[in-house]
Amino acid sequence: MTRKDILFTRYEIENRVHALAKDLAVDYRGKTLTLIAVLNGGVMIAADLLRSLWDIGFDDVLFDSIKVSSYGQAFESSGEPVILKDIRLDITGQHVVIVEDIVDTGLTLQAMRQYMLAKNPASFEILSLLAKPESIRRVPVVVKYLGFEIDNVWVEGYGIDSAEKGRGNPNIMQVIQPEN
Ligand code: IMP
Repeated sequence: MTRKDILFTRYEIENRVHALAKDLAVDYRGKTLTLIAVLNGGVMIAADLLRSLWDIGFDDVLFDSIKVSSYGQAFESSGEPVILKDIRLDITGQHVVIVEDIVDTGLTLQAMRQYMLAKNPASFEILSLLAKPESIRRVPVVVKYLGFEIDNVWVEGYGIDSAEKGRGNPNIMQVIQPEN
């Protein structure tokens, strides 16, 4: 039977997300910050970040979201991301932070970065709750704001799905498949 163990509790996540919000509030002081959630997985962390920023007293925040096609089919043969839902905000001249749930190979974010930079933002950074070692090794995508680095394991919860399920779990679970 598939086993699911808690990797990070809701309280550990809450503390870490709040710390990331504090970092953003310091780094973007005096500026308007544009947060862009990558759907669907980025919704929970984006919502918590927005609330944390508000609690800290940083309310100069614009919010939008983007959806690219699912894992494995995220790119045209040209290497362009397939955009299923684009942003509506004009980010030209804006300070943009993309909010992701998890970076695995980093290919999605690399394509997203190119796509966003073509819109000429004043600055562009990446925030991700989780990152796997593969992305840290292979792709020159810098996740400036990282929640937790994890091993190469499959996770779900806190917005992250396994075949579209498990997003509502407030904790992050490690999914362990039985040995054959
Ligand atoms: P990348 O292009 O390989 O970095 O893909 C990142 C995307 O893969 C994430 O946004 C997730 O949708 C998905 N993904 C990678 N690892 C996991 C996992 O452990 N659980 C659920 N989804 C994952």
